[in-house]
Amino acid sequence: MSDTLVSIAIPCPLRRRFDYLWPAALAREPQPGLRVKLPFGRREVVGIVLARSDNSDIDPAKLKAVTEVLDEQPSLSAELLALGEWAASYYHHPIGDCLAQMLPVALRRSKPAASKPAEHWQLAEGATPDALPARARQQRALFSAVAERGVLSRDELKTLGFSRAVLNELIKGQLLCAASAAPRAADAERGPELNAEQAAVLHTLADHDGQFGRFLLDGITGSGKTEVYLRAIARAIANGKQCLVLVPEIGLTPQTLRRFERRFPGRVRSLHSGMGDSERLANWQAARRGDADIVLGTRSAVFAELPRLGLVVVDEEHDSSYKQQDGWRYSARDIAVKRAADRDCPVILGSATPSLDSLHNADRGRYQVLRLRQRAGNACEAPIRLLDIRQQPLQHGLSEALLNATDKALAAGNQVLLFLNRRGFAPTLQCHCCGWIADCAACDARMTVHYRRRQLRCHHCEAIRAMPASCPDCGNSQWIYDGPGTERLELFLQQRFSQPVLRIDRDTTAGRGSMAELVNEVNKGEPCILVGTQMLAKGHHFPAVTLVGIVDMDAGLFSADYRATENSAQLLLQVAGRAGRADRPGEVLLQTHCPAHPALQSLSQHGYRDFAAAQLAERRLLELPPFSYSAVIRCDAPQLSDAEQFLQQLRDALAAPTPDWQVLGPLPAPMTRRAGRFRASLILQAAQRGLLHRQLAQACHTAEGLSRRGQLRWSVDVDPIEMF
Ligand code: ADP
Ligand code: ZN
Ligand code: ZN
Repeated sequence: MSDTLVSIAIPCPLRRRFDYLWPAALAREPQPGLRVKLPFGRREVVGIVLARSDNSDIDPAKLKAVTEVLDEQPSLSAELLALGEWAASYYHHPIGDCLAQMLPVALRRSKPAASKPAEHWQLAEGATPDALPARARQQRALFSAVAERGVLSRDELKTLGFSRAVLNELIKGQLLCAASAAPRAADAERGPELNAEQAAVLHTLADHDGQFGRFLLDGITGSGKTEVYLRAIARAIANGKQCLVLVPEIGLTPQTLRRFERRFPGRVRSLHSGMGDSERLANWQAARRGDADIVLGTRSAVFAELPRLGLVVVDEEHDSSYKQQDGWRYSARDIAVKRAADRDCPVILGSATPSLDSLHNADRGRYQVLRLRQRAGNACEAPIRLLDIRQQPLQHGLSEALLNATDKALAAGNQVLLFLNRRGFAPTLQCHCCGWIADCAACDARMTVHYRRRQLRCHHCEAIRAMPASCPDCGNSQWIYDGPGTERLELFLQQRFSQPVLRIDRDTTAGRGSMAELVNEVNKGEPCILVGTQMLAKGHHFPAVTLVGIVDMDAGLFSADYRATENSAQLLLQVAGRAGRADRPGEVLLQTHCPAHPALQSLSQHGYRDFAAAQLAERRLLELPPFSYSAVIRCDAPQLSDAEQFLQQLRDALAAPTPDWQVLGPLPAPMTRRAGRFRASLILQAAQRGLLHRQLAQACHTAEGLSRRGQLRWSVDVDPIEMF
């Protein structure tokens, strides 16, 4: 009898599966989804069994064998394996890497999936002490201690003087089970009375209980979208389902988590990149066992295994953090929709500023739109007013008008938020005598001045060096700082105003808990100025802020990259949404050099929907996505010519352009050199998705067959959100 053959996914850059022998000595069946150890080249790696295979093209004498099965249970269910295979082909990415990324980091290594011992326990469903023998006094005592408290922690176990053995007996007898930290017995907070719009939305959702449906919940900031999710989740849980809730990276704040925890004590598990590997593994396992009713997480949580999955929510669906920006460039939002379709369950995409992709899907009838037009409670939406700053004197980028408005708001006892777009606010260092500029040695970029630490940093490769005492070219030390920078703006504001100035950006919030501290400070409600970048835009409610000043948005809004225009408008409205959330009416002042620009006019006068409609009309005319389908093939190498040559060879292998099919490039990236490597790309665009995918498959096939100069890297980006 011949040996069993299996096909295996192995994390490596090749877009294929690998055949291995499955020795009878393993004494196991090769179940799909099992993690196995095997020799690969000169290494030993972790692979995942995809299937038995009937025959192999490989010379049987050369076939290698799986050496070890790592787990009892498959790590990926049939559902997730199928999802992974679909995603690998959709994104033209190696299956082995896709499957590895779907697993928690702890499982990508070749250790068995030892679960971290639980730290908290609760009574198992339906457990009664009657099952215990009368003389098991210790066990009875521990049982009632847990019953009393709802949840018992490891520390309490010690303080109460119970031994681990007693605990283990109860667990073995299925009277106790692991719990998450929050006590399940705590009273779940009850939500507010729904307003009519929310009730109508939930009514529509209820009509689709238990069947596939794609919903776009379009509601302005503060209109009660989260409340709608919470209610829909409560219904799903009551029906015995699990829920998957995705939030943007920056949106998973402790406040968000607490809000879910308060409503569903003990039922929520989070998954995000900020947590340690073992905690992540524990939560992933809880979801997979069906112990967690809600998984709340960022991008990669979309791969959490939920055997009873019955509802998927993607909050702030337009957010670009759902798209992974290196390696496997998947969109967690799009995969979430696919998962719901596979599961036949509803998916809700929510946003105050839906992506043009989703609005287009709504126009085509693929998504059902649910709208919330009013702010919940008694707050109202802040109007956006344009400040024409052409020829106006500016102090650190701020006009008189904005400074005066700030004065007024502070004097009235309110808070002010000044928003800086990162782009254009990175100060550079230049010599006033000879014009020397501090450039990064590894990138086509200027170093950014970090004033307080007297450092120069590159924001593209993380190079750091000390600010030079004198100009390396001419020896003088008369510096010009070009661009205001958040740090110097903060200093200026501190001198100009007597109220406290709080800067919120990547530098000031780097430490653990420092963001929470800053937010607490703001929420005391004392008059102050908040100044910061993107980090200010999302996830936080600042009820005492009445004035939002947007210092500079022109660069993004009027960018040549159509996605930048869309993202800037979304960001602008996100920031604007911070104002006037409570009872005090808010105002948004937007400084601009182009007050007459139609995009700004439509945004400020008619709102996002109007703006989006105009943008969609333009894209239709220009046949840009979502009216066509695009992909980018990127390449980088130590020599620009190598990267360009490689891409040219791919281009030569592709179909000749037709009205339905275009290829652009090889184009060097605007910042051609980054971290010492030269970057170029090919941009592919097709009128039909099928056409794009056939050409991409051809390109990948060609690329894998090309002999490559050392250190050349290439990757595919389907549905890109940036072109380079
Ligand atoms: P969004 O997610 O759209 O920003 P939220 O659900 O966070 O909106 O609601 C904004 C605020 O309004 C929250 O403080 C929330 O508790 C409150 N809220 C939501 N729905 C209602 C309601 N029906 N009645 C009163 N307050 C509400
Ligand atoms: Zn000089
Ligand atoms: Zn650099």
